[in-house]
Amino acid sequence: MNIQTSARLFAEAQKYIPGGVNSPVRAMKGVGMPHPLFINHAKGAHIWDADGNEFVDFVSSWGPMILGWGHPDVVGSLHAQVDRGTSYGAPTELEVELARLICEAVPSIELVRMVNSGTEATMSAVRVARGFTGREKIVKFIGCYHGHSDGFLAAAGSGVLTLALPDSPGVTKGTTADTLLVEYNDIESLTALFDERGDEIAALIVEPVAGNMGVVLPAPGFLEACRELCTQSGAVLIFDEVITGFRVAWGGAQERFGVLPDLTTLGKIIGGGLPVGAFGGRRELMETVAPLGSTYQAGTLSGNPLAMAAGAAALRALSEPGVYERLEKLAREVAEGLTAAAAKGDHPFTLNQVGPMMTLFFCEGPVQSFADAKQADTAYYAQYWRHMLESGIYLAPSQFEAAMISLALSEDDITRAAAAATAFFAG
Ligand SMILES: *Cc1c(COP(=O)(O)O)cnc(C)c1O
Repeated sequence: MNIQTSARLFAEAQKYIPGGVNSPVRAMKGVGMPHPLFINHAKGAHIWDADGNEFVDFVSSWGPMILGWGHPDVVGSLHAQVDRGTSYGAPTELEVELARLICEAVPSIELVRMVNSGTEATMSAVRVARGFTGREKIVKFIGCYHGHSDGFLAAAGSGVLTLALPDSPGVTKGTTADTLLVEYNDIESLTALFDERGDEIAALIVEPVAGNMGVVLPAPGFLEACRELCTQSGAVLIFDEVITGFRVAWGGAQERFGVLPDLTTLGKIIGGGLPVGAFGGRRELMETVAPLGSTYQAGTLSGNPLAMAAGAAALRALSEPGVYERLEKLAREVAEGLTAAAAKGDHPFTLNQVGPMMTLFFCEGPVQSFADAKQADTAYYAQYWRHMLESGIYLAPSQFEAAMISLALSEDDITRAAAAATAFFAG
């Protein structure tokens, strides 16, 4: 495969951009690539790199492109809006429509505020929770990702599981001292933490299906325990549905699993491929946000008309009858193809899947936490990834990410992916 143009562009990029990329995972270091692939264009479920290589895409821009690229309604709405103005810093009918669609779809959201990224959404939701409760501690699960704001860049200290330390230079010890960490699905430790410190906890934030350590499912009773502990202690339960929102169901993971949070964060899909985020929830909480309440939150480009137009068009397309059934079917076929292929090899594997998000972990199952996920053979994943790429299948360049299924995948695309995987495992 010729990737010389990508190599040349990367050399140029490194002159002006740290590491040549605008988000670290794109560097493809996790799979041992000398440089990332630069993307030139995309259509449907296919992307083309700068050298003209075509791939079937299973990344979907990390989730947003659930409809595939070039959906006529999304593209049409963007074309129409471009001519009318791309930002006003004033209210628009478009943002009201997107907000209404979100409130109608997501069971626990009564009021919603638009922001520009998932990072902003989670950061703001935590502020609302702290303002509402008058408490300062937040609880997060190890291996869950909630964007890159300081309080979330916390790593477990050795020994005491819940004592968080900065996980990046530039994050202060003071900031992470307010973050308490627990392993995902560890109901016992979570209960012990709430027993001990429940009255200090402003919020518990959780990816209701973890997607950022690879896909990890909530164990039976886990989300219910999160709900119960928050209700008992007066803490705010935040579901970070930046990935799962409008992916695992029209109403997100909260609909799929039947557990309602107090606040929800959204991003990715709700922007139809443009930069966006949102946080929303119970009226009582959201009414504390300025200008109604005194918890400050703002944004020059928030509710950007292009993002609102694309997002609303995307959600309208997703609201059509049968869409999520079709998505589940496509995802099931992908999962079956990969599982059958991996079973032909002699490396241990386990496939974690919730509908249209899945990860093939190269270790024995079950994978129920970050500690489990870390057992996976990342060198083997890198070999697999390179083989798939050479076969025209574009997977996430890390073992700890998810395959994001899109509605644009054809039966032929799925067959090609399964055949490529079979050649790797059987070969
Ligand atoms: C992607 C993601 C974020 C961060 O969103 P950005 O738009 O990248 O800032 C937050 N939470 C989860 C669960 C995510 O997957």
